[in-house]
Amino acid sequence: MSLLEVTDLHVRYGAIPALKGIDLRVEEGELVAVVGANGAGKTTTLSAIAGAHRASRGTITLDGKEIQRRRSAEIARRGISLVPEDRGIFPSLTVDENLRLGSYLLRDSKEVTHLRGEIFQRFPILQQRADQGAGTLSGGEQQQLAIARALLTKPRLLMLDEPSLGLSPTLVDRVFEVIQELHDEGVTILLVEQNATRALDLANRVYVLTTGVMTASGTAQEIRASVDIESAYLGGA
Ligand code: ATP
Repeated sequence: MSLLEVTDLHVRYGAIPALKGIDLRVEEGELVAVVGANGAGKTTTLSAIAGAHRASRGTITLDGKEIQRRRSAEIARRGISLVPEDRGIFPSLTVDENLRLGSYLLRDSKEVTHLRGEIFQRFPILQQRADQGAGTLSGGEQQQLAIARALLTKPRLLMLDEPSLGLSPTLVDRVFEVIQELHDEGVTILLVEQNATRALDLANRVYVLTTGVMTASGTAQEIRASVDIESAYLGGA
């Protein structure tokens, strides 16, 4: 049984169909990437899994249990954590306060202290800036904060929506390095990226999403061999 299994998922915004029956699965320990152009439905896929958008048809299961009708807080409690495209940090709160919001799901204070230690080791800048307003962090630092906060929920599935968006090339490198490290340490990751080339370098398996339909899937190697990544990236135009 897959950790996450999405079957025939349809999501509409009023009359507009954003997802037209997609299938997707993520096995424990995998790094799976969904690539596609602007408006292909990548964000909608992640927000539907996280419970922020209702499916009009289809199922989403975590460990074989349907979650598509659950509320987002319940889905988070079951172990799915989403780092949204806008990073979702609270700019007027400090870095530390933002991190504390991440650890609300964990009851054991020793575990929280241990996890915070690990996170500060991985992202030393967050410890240095702990008392600073999160809104004053640079784009790359905010992305690190958003990922750190998600990790503090000890997710079974970490979903990242366009983590490289708006970052300078050096910071993009750093963010992809962090994703690779997390994967190497066993974190299961579902990554959505417009930067298909970079996503393919990291992923075990890849799905290509084109206007609400999965048009290809396979290992990174298979996708490289069979799909014109440039045209998938540009929406097949
Ligand atoms: P991007 O990379 O530009 O964020 P995406 O692949 O994540 O694109 P989505 O944001 O999931 O794509 O959007 C899929 C489709 O649904 C698009 O056609 C978009 O215009 C539409 N859409 C998204 N959100 C809404 C909304 N709240 N109301 C109406 N239409 C929406």
